[in-house]
Amino acid sequence: MAESKKILLINKDAEAKIRAHGAETYPHECCGAMLGKDDVTGVVVGVESVREVSALFPLINRRDDSPRNRFSVTSEDVMDAEKAAREQGLDVVGWYHSHPDHPARPSDFDREHAWPWYSYVIVSVAQGKPEDMTSWRLNDDRASYEPESVRIHPTDAELDRLRTEIDAKRAAK
Ligand SMILES: [Zn+2]
Repeated sequence: MAESKKILLINKDAEAKIRAHGAETYPHECCGAMLGKDDVTGVVVGVESVREVSALFPLINRRDDSPRNRFSVTSEDVMDAEKAAREQGLDVVGWYHSHPDHPARPSDFDREHAWPWYSYVIVSVAQGKPEDMTSWRLNDDRASYEPESVRIHPTDAELDRLRTEIDAKRAAK
């Protein structure tokens, strides 16, 4: 497979929270909205599109019929997520959910219920333990997905700590 030209840059805290949410709802699917900014420039060069996820808005999986392999997002969920995003000066850039004991690949159900443009993050949870995390964007023809590379962005606190460590090492010389 050719390397994807699309990159989803996830804040480390948000990535950890998606994994924790998947473990928490196991053996059922978890789901939630991802809040951030589309087309972030100046972070990574040479790629078509970088989208950044900096916060999450966890949702309750309302599927009573088949919560182990399905989730649904209602129009009310979408409005709530958009409101939460606006309050933080962000946009809803995608949706995440877990695949309990299944690979992190979109199912037919996922494709039929996805909207183009958004990023869809899937985390596989095997025996209650979060494993692979992938991201996908539905093509405009709605027939196929394009994979998106997932990269983890260090937190501000972590960057500060790294800077402090580097400064301390320099000072010690
Ligand atoms: Zn799915």
